[in-house]
Amino acid sequence: MRSRLHVRLANSTSKDLRSARHIVGVHEVVIGSVVVGCRIRRHARARRITLRVREGRIHVTAPVRVPVSEIRRCIDEHLNWIEDALLRERACVAADLRVGDRIPFLDGSVTIVEGRSGTRYVSKDAVAVRANDPILPQIEQWYRRAARPYFQEYLERWAPRIGVTPSRLVVRGQRSRWGSASANATISLNWRLMMAPPRIGEYVVVHELVHLIHMDHSARFWDCVGGHWPTYSDERVWLRVHGPELFAGPVALGADSGEVS
Ligand SMILES: [Zn+2]
Repeated sequence: MRSRLHVRLANSTSKDLRSARHIVGVHEVVIGSVVVGCRIRRHARARRITLRVREGRIHVTAPVRVPVSEIRRCIDEHLNWIEDALLRERACVAADLRVGDRIPFLDGSVTIVEGRSGTRYVSKDAVAVRANDPILPQIEQWYRRAARPYFQEYLERWAPRIGVTPSRLVVRGQRSRWGSASANATISLNWRLMMAPPRIGEYVVVHELVHLIHMDHSARFWDCVGGHWPTYSDERVWLRVHGPELFAGPVALGADSGEVS
């Protein structure tokens, strides 16, 4: 899938223009903690800056005399768009799941095999799908169902320790968050956490349960999280680094997953 965005130019200054020709070639853009390649090309006939996302990279086409600062600002201003385009592209890659692929599950992996009836575990490390139907939706469905008992167990382990009573567990597939806690004590958790090591999902459960005491991210909230889960900053870093991959959906292990890592 190709995504494209045109950006109008603001007025440029002559000081910036002097170095304009030098900023071409491949650069790197940091989005959160993810480094993305960025190829900049100058075009004599280009009237405006165009951003494209293709194969995990940002491609910028800019008029010859547009200042460096303008390109930088343009990328900065459109980081959200770029991130979405990268995720959409990864989601398309994920749609290529096939029978025989291995997909991540907690610490290990499961293999997709062909079965007749609906999606189910056929053994500890294999999941059966109907090979004639699109595989990705079946796999997502399976992750969702597989996630519930794990989340349930974490909730039962941690709610009494933290001293809260969640009313309900909802398994969701949000594209931008790992979990949430509502005022009526419903805990929502993202099935995508099943593609992460178990400690990550368990940390998110602790995080959301603490929100039943502190409904914000204040110092008191983090003190409370740290009291129950002292290494929480490690799990947060893990989620920042690997989050984009998880949000993009399951990708066959061993397959080339593009340049976002
Ligand atoms: Zn939170």
